[in-house]
Amino acid sequence: MKVVIVGGGWSGCAAAVCARKGGAEVKLLERTDMILGTGLVGGIMRNNGRYTATEELIAMGGGEIFKIVDENSRHKNINFPGHQHANLYDIGTTPGAVMRYLKEMGINIVFKARVVKTNIKDGSIESIKDSEGNVYNGDVFIDTTGTAGPMNNCSKYGNGCAMCILRCPSFGGRVSLTGLAGIKEYIGKKPNGQIGAMSGSCKLYKESLSPEIVKELDTKGVAIVPIPDELTEDHLDIKACQQYALKEFKKNIILLDTGHAKLMTPFYDIEKLRRIPGFENARYEDPYAGGKGNSMRFFAMAPRDNALKVEGIDNLFCAGEKAGLLVGHTEAIVTGTLAGFNSVKFCNGEKLLEIPKELAIGEAIEYVREQMKTEEGLAKKYTFSGSVLFDKMKSLGLYSTDIAEINNKVEKLGLKDIFSYSKEPDKLKVKLEK
Ligand SMILES: Cc1cc2nc3c(=O)[nH]c(=O)nc-3n(C[C@H](O)[C@H](O)[C@H](O)COP(=O)(O)OP(=O)(O)OC[C@H]3O[C@@H](n4cnc5c(N)ncnc54)[C@H](O)[C@@H]3O)c2cc1C
Repeated sequence: MKVVIVGGGWSGCAAAVCARKGGAEVKLLERTDMILGTGLVGGIMRNNGRYTATEELIAMGGGEIFKIVDENSRHKNINFPGHQHANLYDIGTTPGAVMRYLKEMGINIVFKARVVKTNIKDGSIESIKDSEGNVYNGDVFIDTTGTAGPMNNCSKYGNGCAMCILRCPSFGGRVSLTGLAGIKEYIGKKPNGQIGAMSGSCKLYKESLSPEIVKELDTKGVAIVPIPDELTEDHLDIKACQQYALKEFKKNIILLDTGHAKLMTPFYDIEKLRRIPGFENARYEDPYAGGKGNSMRFFAMAPRDNALKVEGIDNLFCAGEKAGLLVGHTEAIVTGTLAGFNSVKFCNGEKLLEIPKELAIGEAIEYVREQMKTEEGLAKKYTFSGSVLFDKMKSLGLYSTDIAEINNKVEKLGLKDIFSYSKEPDKLKVKLEK
């Protein structure tokens, strides 16, 4: 069983872990020199309904990555406007911890492997090729290339390349495996009809902020600094993460401590920022041009079913942002796990798993798929942590922070430990329902 995963963001890493647990030989191809993709500059976990989705996946036996993230959290169970019980992972230590875990499991990570070509025969992908001409054969492929960039999209639909963590000039821009396979993809829009959406946060060097702000961040994880009226900026409508499009995020500088200071706005004019007390020396760590813009995302989502199989190609699955207008690490990890699991089922010729709608994860996967078929739905973003999906979760009674209750529900649905495995390499087998 050879599973080839293209894209080493959170969804690709989660897919790799689950496919490897199922006994597959796993290759994870990443075009840059680091794993975690946009997760390299993220950090917010378990806020609002993400808590439920996290615990559902843990109950289903797919919690390894969440365990690493929890172990690498700088702050746990914190609140900030509109958001409760959040954990903030350390963006300095988490990528290394995940990488060590993947390697320990025997996952073959290939860096600087930017996939640019597919070889298709009888409706299936036989092999793919990277820009250096290396060929990768597989029984099944998973597209976890995300939806961010490349530079020409950031220039055309955003404020230009903001020099973000994706580092397109050095490694070449994102290329969609689904697109290379000739499948027409969905394109996300802003509420005003323009294409794409801008990433919703930047990172400031903590060292460039006043000692009072740094102390607040270190002790509480959050710092909220009111913005004088004449210095406010309004970027709420263009944000990819609509869960933070609340008036508090316009009236205040909201910072979260992920090692650096995560500034919860897509960009903020640096001259204006430096006029706010405590920010006189402020400097952007990511993106470098955070005073002017940010990365643009949601340009290419794959048409797929609820088992995350891409429609139109026999042996291609997808996860993360590729699987819909799904914003977030948690969303990427849960869909990645399902795609990895189903890639193994596919190889074994078994029925693919669809997560039932009684769970928040199942509801999200189906809801986003339905929404992507409508113009209105394409103008929204979906996350367990806020906006329309969280509202839906609450109205359906799917939001819970009661771990015992979540476990019982998973158990009753017959999904307890479905993604679990033994760590011994020769016994790497998920318990599969025939
Ligand atoms: C600045 C910023 C801050 C964020 N903060 C948070 C947060 O705090 N909490 C949260 O939950 N979410 C946050 N998000 C959103 C979250 O990071 C994403 O929704 C999620 O992590 C997406 O994961 P992914 O695996 O689908 O895609 P990505 O993270 O985009 O990963 C895709 C990977 O595929 C690689 N790739 C692309 N094309 C190819 C190719 N042809 N060949 C090989 N590799 C390829 C890319 O290099 C990349 O590593 C943030 C996003 C941004 C941009």
